[in-house]
Amino acid sequence: MNILIVGAGPTGLTAAVELARRGVLPRVIDKRSGPSELSRAVGIQQLSMDILTPSGVADEIRTEAVRFDGVAFHTGARRVAKFALNFDDRSRLYGLPQDRTEHFLARALARFGGRIEYDTPFEGLTQDETSLRVQLGGTQAVFDHVIGADGAHSAVRAALGLGFPGFDLPGQWSIADVESPDWRDPQTFQGFMLPHGNICIVAPLEAARFRVIASLPDALAALPVPMNVTNIRRSGAFTISVRQVTDYAVGRVYLAGDAAHCHSPAGGRGMNLGIADAADLAGRLIDGGLAGYHAARHAEGAHVLAFSEGLRKAMQSKSPLRRMVMPRVMKFIAAVPPIQRAAVRYFVSG
Ligand SMILES: Cc1cc2nc3c(=O)[nH]c(=O)nc-3n(C[C@H](O)[C@H](O)[C@H](O)COP(=O)(O)OP(=O)(O)OC[C@H]3O[C@@H](n4cnc5c(N)ncnc54)[C@H](O)[C@@H]3O)c2cc1C
Repeated sequence: MNILIVGAGPTGLTAAVELARRGVLPRVIDKRSGPSELSRAVGIQQLSMDILTPSGVADEIRTEAVRFDGVAFHTGARRVAKFALNFDDRSRLYGLPQDRTEHFLARALARFGGRIEYDTPFEGLTQDETSLRVQLGGTQAVFDHVIGADGAHSAVRAALGLGFPGFDLPGQWSIADVESPDWRDPQTFQGFMLPHGNICIVAPLEAARFRVIASLPDALAALPVPMNVTNIRRSGAFTISVRQVTDYAVGRVYLAGDAAHCHSPAGGRGMNLGIADAADLAGRLIDGGLAGYHAARHAEGAHVLAFSEGLRKAMQSKSPLRRMVMPRVMKFIAAVPPIQRAAVRYFVSG
């Protein structure tokens, strides 16, 4: 089977590793000149770790990742509740910069005999009943199947002429990766509800290194509690779109990861959803069942988009009533262990 994977992000690399470990070595191309150094996605769910266990990637991730010990919510600087994690399989959450996750995936691909062809952009495709021709890096090649894992601005999706309906959230969000030697609760994922429906999040990246994200132009200035920042490794701004492609498959071309869906970082689902798309697709390419790919992954994507938007809207609510009630609800949930455990399972794996 002759398979092309466009994009060596976490989605494309997971598809490549899952195919290669089962004996089908795909061709993997990326338009970048080398590995990314961006630490975008932090949270890795247990489901992703389960997917990455047979290839050995999960074990490698565990050697570097932070295992979050809890999720804490605040109104301004005041802590409202902290939910404990790690009481069962569905309550585990790991933190690792995305470039390190990609590094471990690329290393596994190399172990199975594969490699990434950098500086090789996807440029277009034509397909009919019998052939699938792709223009890439100034040349043309024929494949049995193509996986478009080329991110939110997917050229594969554009070549298929597919719609990407949804909406863009107003305003810019900000992000900072910082070092802080004495940040409180260094293994806890922390959310802060701010005035006017704004939010700020602090997620552990590794020992004494943290990701701060805010729905305001300056993430560090938005943080309502003091943080002793000794180094800012990277900071920037980003906008958020909430979109899902109309069809995950056209002929023998399939979309996965951000090429098929994008949403806010609330809930930390994006990369995990792409890893799950990739594993599902790789399994279907080898075991059969490709006809069911769109229905299965579109439904799961729609569920995650709704979950992530629900969470973002709840945290960004401007309604005075909701803002008054939410902390009380969280306190109540935290005070009743079975309800707390159910809430954590939903938040971490739901
Ligand atoms: C600030 C921020 C924080 C986030 N936090 C989290 C989190 O905590 N947890 C989580 O799960 N997700 C998170 N995400 C989302 C996560 O980063 C994405 O969902 C994830 O990167 C998607 O992976 P992907 O492989 O589908 O796409 P990408 O990572 O975008 O990779 C696509 C690849 O395709 C390549 N490519 C593009 N066009 C072409 C072309 N024409 N030819 C060849 N190659 C091409 C690109 O160079 C790139 O390498 C976050 C995102 C942001 C912006």
